[in-house]
Amino acid sequence: MLTGETGVDMKSETKPIHGLTRNELVELCAGLNQPSYRAAQIWRWLHVNRVGDWQQMTNIPAAIRTQLAGSFSFFSMQAEGSKKSADTSLKVLARLHDGETVEFVVIPAPRRTTVCVSSQVGCKFDCAFCASGRSGFTRSLDAGEMVEELLLAEKEYGEKPTHVVFMGIGEPFDNYDNVLKAVRIINDQEGLAIGARRITISTCGIIPGIERLAGEGLQVELSVSLHAPNDELRTRLMPVNRRYGVGPLLDACRQYTQQTGRLITFEYAMIRGVNDSRSHAEELAGKLKSFQCRVNLIPLSEVEEYGGKASTPEVVNMFIKVLGEAGVNATLRNSRGSELKAACGQLRASHARKA
Ligand code: SF4
Repeated sequence: MLTGETGVDMKSETKPIHGLTRNELVELCAGLNQPSYRAAQIWRWLHVNRVGDWQQMTNIPAAIRTQLAGSFSFFSMQAEGSKKSADTSLKVLARLHDGETVEFVVIPAPRRTTVCVSSQVGCKFDCAFCASGRSGFTRSLDAGEMVEELLLAEKEYGEKPTHVVFMGIGEPFDNYDNVLKAVRIINDQEGLAIGARRITISTCGIIPGIERLAGEGLQVELSVSLHAPNDELRTRLMPVNRRYGVGPLLDACRQYTQQTGRLITFEYAMIRGVNDSRSHAEELAGKLKSFQCRVNLIPLSEVEEYGGKASTPEVVNMFIKVLGEAGVNATLRNSRGSELKAACGQLRASHARKA
């Protein structure tokens, strides 16, 4: 019988095997009275050889394979459709084992292939400009499902991902444990081997998640969606601001930078006539000028559910100038893949384009 020491509930329905960390696989094999090298063998079959079913694990005893198959699913996710945009980004719709669907997007750029991963089915946070938030929340993804998004992305796109951004559907810090497990699995040198600095976690400003991440000792990039310089406007755009206001959020970000030595990127979707005036730029500059950080200005990706328009290039340039004069490093990011209209499309491009 399988033990529950892996943290996986063995009694319930099967879980994606790709969601087990190396340590969990070792614990699992120990519970099956198997030597520790068995875990390394299974890991290689899963993450290096990328086998398609249990029977291909030829050096694993048949009885062990049968036991594992009773508790873990192999590939629980299937591509159901895909769509390429004019800029060659590829959006894939994936069907999950319970019939739910998620989307992920592959964004090519010179010397990099970025996959924008979803962390939840739907989202609780209901940002005004986001189509995903409007359809409500269904469930969080298991770590294995997020790893499978990358494996499926590689299969559908035909290239190994080099960068990962947790900027798809859902709020990563609302599914913290699974997201961090997925990060550790895809960061493992045997397998997808995506360096921590090539992994970005994006949050709408969940302060406890920022505080926990600071203590993880990981070199991942952190991106915080700000989108407004004050509470009144930010609450209108992002209801999460009622709970985690601008002041406490920026304090948590400062603390994160002090503790980790890592710069945070603030995302700011520029919405015509809403958050793009000179006084907004000056207010933002005032709050960030003493703070070592980066600001990505992203002209709004227009979605049907929200009537806002993107700021004009002149206004974006004014914003960059005002921030720059205050010593704040601000950059324009184009919305590659935005025509695909998936999830936090406001943000997706911002990391995909860095050289
Ligand atoms: S922008 Fe992100 S956090 Fe906000 S509703 Fe959309 S998916 Fe959720």
